[in-house]
Amino acid sequence: MEPIRCCIACRAKKTKENFFRIVANDEKKAILDKKQNSNSRGIYICRDKKCIENALKAITKNKLKLKINVDNQSLVEVLKELGEEIWEN
Ligand SMILES: [Zn+2]
Repeated sequence: MEPIRCCIACRAKKTKENFFRIVANDEKKAILDKKQNSNSRGIYICRDKKCIENALKAITKNKLKLKINVDNQSLVEVLKELGEEIWEN
């Protein structure tokens, strides 16, 4: 059985292939873990622009609770990049 992950925005539970995975590096900067194989603790978000928008809103309102220690500004940048990727496809 694949481990089940949970979206930081909508809390949907799915296997990790359904998500983007974001990890924090040693400087607490958010980085997209494209191959999903980094040993760092990660957070997951649906490959869905609605979830990305909602996560961005929650960060702005300081309402996003995360299990990893990550710099908010760098997380915003990663999410915006992911958003643009989805918009274009
Ligand atoms: Zn979601």
